[in-house]
Amino acid sequence: MVPRAGETKTSDPHSLLLVDRFGRHHTSLRVSVTDACNIRCRYCMPESVNGFMAQERLMGFEEIERTIRILAGVGITKVRLTGGEPLMRPGLPRLVERISQIPSLQHIALTTNGMLLSDSMHQLAQAGLTHVNISLDTLREETFRRMSRREGLDRVLDGIEAAIQSGLPVRLNAVVLRDINLEDCIPLVEFARSRNITIRFIEFMPLDAERAWNQSQVVTGKELRKRVEDVFGPLALKQDTDPSQPSRDYVFTNGSGGIGFIDPVSEPFCSNCNRLRLTADGKFRNCLFGREEWDVMSLLRRGANDHEILALAMDCVRSKFASHGISDAGFEPPVRAMYQIGG
Ligand code: SAM
Ligand code: SF4
Repeated sequence: MVPRAGETKTSDPHSLLLVDRFGRHHTSLRVSVTDACNIRCRYCMPESVNGFMAQERLMGFEEIERTIRILAGVGITKVRLTGGEPLMRPGLPRLVERISQIPSLQHIALTTNGMLLSDSMHQLAQAGLTHVNISLDTLREETFRRMSRREGLDRVLDGIEAAIQSGLPVRLNAVVLRDINLEDCIPLVEFARSRNITIRFIEFMPLDAERAWNQSQVVTGKELRKRVEDVFGPLALKQDTDPSQPSRDYVFTNGSGGIGFIDPVSEPFCSNCNRLRLTADGKFRNCLFGREEWDVMSLLRRGANDHEILALAMDCVRSKFASHGISDAGFEPPVRAMYQIGG
């Protein structure tokens, strides 16, 4: 068992929480369940992959559940399942069901490309999923093919409809690359508004496997916001948003729908970061851009107790830098690309 506040001899009230050197409390855990994916978004994966992680390298559901349970004991309240494409992991609803039994978790979310969602949405909702984010960068099949180097926009759209039908809160995530899908931003906003769901635009980050990231392809949130306001009228900053969430959220002043901008490149939000990550092969990471990992899988597999797991997580959190440093001279992207870390 993880010690409770009353059971410790320490005088530091924060010593059992996931608080870093800058006072940031970590309450959110992103759990990657696989590096495999069924499409090949150019901002994330290489066109061809030389094999995904072997099954034995992936954390088992029991190992994931145990790790989350330990962290939930020290303040993690929100878990997001991601990947790779999390629905490529067989039996994902079983994992959701297991972690939904952890009493202090308030939020079990999924980020998916939607390709396989219509088949499993009902099971996921029954298992205890609370939120669904679906990536959608275009409504045009040809642009979908250019962006993802695969077919299947119709399946993504089916997945979105299934998610809406489930009654869970649904959000769309869109990445805009200037030369590929800039023209799609207005139709995407119209699509989201017509379904009364929120869309968030995420700036293209230097985390693509092909290392083709270039500032000229980044469309800033500011530019997108101006384009959106030119068409839909002024946006109003949403009140009472959680300051630790990465998106700056707005509402339309003339009607339904919400919109958000995640601007890690042009306006980093590191000072409020509350996120810890767990890769599919069992490594803690304290930042998407971090170059260091903490190997929890080895600890689990050699029979470590909960205190040892927790000590590793705390070490990871306490080693976190003040910011991701994308704009610093000499910035080097992490060795692993987005699909291998978990976005
Ligand atoms: N496969 C799922 C999906 O696409 O939703 C989950 C994993 S994906 C890595 C999570 C999110 O990261 C997606 O919304 C995706 O668009 C975003 N993403 C991937 N690479 C990115 C990059 N280089 N810059 C910004 N966002 C990126
Ligand atoms: Fe796959 Fe998601 Fe990466 Fe696209 S962004 S390649 S869907 S993991």
